[in-house]
Amino acid sequence: MSKGEDKFRKIIAHCKEYGFIFPSSEIYDGLSAVYDYGQNGVELKNNIKDYWWKSMVQYHENIVGVDAAIFMHPMVWKASGHVDAFNDPLIDNKDSKKRYRADVLIEDHIASLEQKIVKEVTKAAKRFGDSFDEKMFLETNPRVQANREKIDDINVRFVAAMENGNLQGLRTLIEELEIVCPVSGSRNWTDVRQFNLMFSSQMGSASDGASQVYLRPETAQGIFVNYLNVQKTGRKKLPFGIAQIGKAFRNEIVARQFIFRMREFEQMEMQFFVKPGEEKEWYEYWKEQRMQWYLALGIPKELFRVHDHDKLAHYANMAVDIEFEFPFGFKEIEGIHSRTDYDLGAHQKYSGKKLQYFDPETNERYVPYVVETSIGLDRTFLAIISHAYREEKLDDGSERMVMNLPPALAPVKVAVLPLVKKDGLPEKGRAVFDKLKYDFNCQYEDKDAIGRRYRRQDAIGTPYCITIDHKTLEDGTVTIRERDTMKQERIPADNISSVVAKRIALRPA
Ligand code: ATP
Repeated sequence: MSKGEDKFRKIIAHCKEYGFIFPSSEIYDGLSAVYDYGQNGVELKNNIKDYWWKSMVQYHENIVGVDAAIFMHPMVWKASGHVDAFNDPLIDNKDSKKRYRADVLIEDHIASLEQKIVKEVTKAAKRFGDSFDEKMFLETNPRVQANREKIDDINVRFVAAMENGNLQGLRTLIEELEIVCPVSGSRNWTDVRQFNLMFSSQMGSASDGASQVYLRPETAQGIFVNYLNVQKTGRKKLPFGIAQIGKAFRNEIVARQFIFRMREFEQMEMQFFVKPGEEKEWYEYWKEQRMQWYLALGIPKELFRVHDHDKLAHYANMAVDIEFEFPFGFKEIEGIHSRTDYDLGAHQKYSGKKLQYFDPETNERYVPYVVETSIGLDRTFLAIISHAYREEKLDDGSERMVMNLPPALAPVKVAVLPLVKKDGLPEKGRAVFDKLKYDFNCQYEDKDAIGRRYRRQDAIGTPYCITIDHKTLEDGTVTIRERDTMKQERIPADNISSVVAKRIALRPA
């Protein structure tokens, strides 16, 4: 088992043990790729939502929110292209009977070639030391060059096959690249078939003419169909944005990476409506802003990568993914897309209603262009806990497990812990807790030795522990212990709230 796999396994176990994430309907052995958030998970998730919502809606005067229904008129999905084109190419291995996404098999093959280049660079950097010139090495090393050529060649054929819906082309590529099934190790593949990812259901009873409805596969369309409602009632001028957080559903072919790829998940999307011609400027603006949002959480820059799309979706004229280095490698966490007037134009055509903007400065009417930022809430959750999970060796030789969560996102901000369960300390502790609970999500705990209680709080990422001891009864001071440094200092009990508030404040740069 690789180091990354081992860490990932531990994170999944930790999430369950400490009430972050449980498999759905676990007593019935779970439901594939569906998960429930537990008592700590829901707090962390709500805090991420809150941080995103504030960064979008509160800190940007020209962005407002909506909360559209999950069910939408079936024509929405015809107009958006999802009925006809929201497909993934699937392929089965006849020996293992496992099903794969054909595009993912090819992408993984490309990633392994890229990994070979990274290894060559690391080896050479070690060999040449200070005199190593990476750019020159990449341009001249024959092994790197050969792999680069292979990657470019595959990419050209891959993009062409995907763009033209050439399923046989994908199959040929998989065969020529000698891609094997990771389970059976064989190359005994079926043909590639298209598979629509939308879940559908019937609305109304069959006798009164039920209509087929879909569980929305993205939240964006709920924003597009409300564009004019918000623009008119909010008297919005371009550029302005509409933000939304909500559930989305996709019948994913392969869903085996915990909360990375689920069949029911949550998205946080923002559609920014701009004057045609200004999309490039706003696209660059949002790329920059979104990176800052992650970096303000204190997550190192090296764990992010920006990946321009080789293959543009049918609606986009510019698109980029922000990728995060999960324990299983760099993968998409957010997409930023310049969607032109594709969506509003299509809804205008299908609904027969004008979705234009009257520009008071030029006296023109036009359909606005859209730049969107689309982030997966669950993937962000996974990124944050993957980065936060630490096993530490302490100076005294003992070990501790600590979740190094950004304090503002931690499920519990303060734990109030009487040193012993006697001498009036629990009563004093309760009094402190009862005051603090109006400011933060707090916990009161008086069972077990203080060391064990600290460890339990470390394991869920509580940034501050307040200890009530005998001195508290004499002079009204308490100790405040900081999670990461484990340093303790004495402060007046009356100051806890202001000290903690100052230390956990989070503002994107
Ligand atoms: P992928 O290529 O990984 O399937 P995508 O490009 O289809 O993702 P988008 O349609 O751009 O994803 O959706 C925007 C965001 O929604 C993604 O960046 C991701 O964070 C999140 N997301 C998409 N599908 C899932 C899923 N099945 N489970 C969890 N999050 C998802």
